[in-house]
Amino acid sequence: MSIPIPHRQLFIDGEWREPVNRKRIPITNPATEETIGDIPAATEEDVNIAVEAARKALSRNGGKDWASATGAHRAKYLRAIAAKITERKSELAKFEAVDCGKPLDEAAWDIDDVAGCFEYYADMAEGLDKKQKTPVSLPMETFKCHVLKEPIGVVGLITPWNYPMLMATWKVAPALAAGCTAILKPSELASVTCLELADVCREVGLPPGVLNVLTGFGVEAGAPLASHPYVDKIAFTGSNATGSKIMTAAAQLAKPVTLELGGKSPIVVFEDVDLDKAAEWTAFGCFWTNGQICSATSRLILHESIAAAFLEKLVKWCENIKISNPLEEGCRLGPVVSAGQYEKVLKLISTAREEGATILYGGSRPQHLKKGYYILPTIITDVKTSMQIWREEVFGPVLCVKTFTTEEEAIELANDTQYGLGSAVLSQDLERCERLTKAFQSGIVWVNCSQPCFSQAPWGGRKRSGFGRELGEWGLDNYLNVKQVTQYI
Ligand code: NAD
Repeated sequence: MSIPIPHRQLFIDGEWREPVNRKRIPITNPATEETIGDIPAATEEDVNIAVEAARKALSRNGGKDWASATGAHRAKYLRAIAAKITERKSELAKFEAVDCGKPLDEAAWDIDDVAGCFEYYADMAEGLDKKQKTPVSLPMETFKCHVLKEPIGVVGLITPWNYPMLMATWKVAPALAAGCTAILKPSELASVTCLELADVCREVGLPPGVLNVLTGFGVEAGAPLASHPYVDKIAFTGSNATGSKIMTAAAQLAKPVTLELGGKSPIVVFEDVDLDKAAEWTAFGCFWTNGQICSATSRLILHESIAAAFLEKLVKWCENIKISNPLEEGCRLGPVVSAGQYEKVLKLISTAREEGATILYGGSRPQHLKKGYYILPTIITDVKTSMQIWREEVFGPVLCVKTFTTEEEAIELANDTQYGLGSAVLSQDLERCERLTKAFQSGIVWVNCSQPCFSQAPWGGRKRSGFGRELGEWGLDNYLNVKQVTQYI
């Protein structure tokens, strides 16, 4: 069960171009462990060519191109991209499913979100025209002042594999709306739909060089992009280790960066919840996309008085879901993305066991699937806050559980992490939810839910989860310079 993957090259200056070194990287379907195609592997020379194309596209013909066009002009392209993506939705969802193991239904939702995000930033691009020359009131009448918002320039966008097309879109759509030109470097583990995004841009006639897509390894293609002197900004989503390297490279040139990094998000469940609904949100928050979500609510902080009944419901949920090839109808959990990720997750589970935790459910591969990087949804109890499973991001279908008795204890446990991306609270007492909302040290708070995400609302973390915000107007500001203009009158 697979589907043919188009044979693509790098997308530079509006054309498909073979990488200078002609190397390619095999694509493995994580459900079957079979090679299903390959992607081009860019290196520094390709990065240099792409950066030159992006710089030309910024101000081709003496400054009359992408950067200086009106937002309304750019919006037309963003809308055309959204429409094409919607037209190709079913094919794109299948690519996502075989490339990174995402159940087909989830992948289809992602593609809807991709189209919605391009539409949203088309509106924002139009809105930008009205936000120019915003007056600033000054205390002296002899001066007048206004503010211009201008594109930052050429931006490097480096993205991970867990939401390949959506994470790319969170950067590409606002960058293009702002008038920047971009070089997108998706993850070598899942690049297929990013190359299709390039194809969509080609089909709608996006001017050459406005979006360039360079697939390849992080060290070979990502690092030269991050350190390139003519790349004006880097927007990165990925691991903390890589984020630090990118920040170090950018620091040499005092280049701005935004970093969307890892997480170890808590979900606090109080005793007054509807157990069925709360169990559903908890399972969704932790196991959606196989737990491979930066904001996965992977630490359950559960009121002691409902612990036994609640965990019973969670175990039932795990027993009842369909774990299968992501292309099969009704699949709820597919494989994790790669052999490396599979081994990493199982190792973290076995370390938890060795450290004295109890594997209440899962902890191994499902017996009915002999091939593929499948891991059962896993619930771990008897967890201590010193354990690796409590402290480190797993990025897999693993929930660790601690109980509490007082609100203060719940807050302390929730904030007991180096990360600060998302936090969730489930309770019918909205005043209590308000208190926890204020106390959570995170960039995102979910009340009586977990994980909903909208193009309109800011996304980003605190502490070691990174800085800067994507989505909403904040996402657009990531790609804009603010220019003060003061005139003596
Ligand atoms: P990763 O850091 O391994 O890779 C991310 C990207 O960086 C890839 O494109 C990779 O090729 C590139 N890269 C690797 N080394 C590089 C280098 N030296 N210089 C420049 N680029 C380099 O991360 P991943 O495994 O792809 O993604 C998983 C991580 O992403 C998790 O930690 C997850 O929490 C995080 N994530 C965060 C968010 C968020 O919004 N905060 C969203 C999704 C994923």
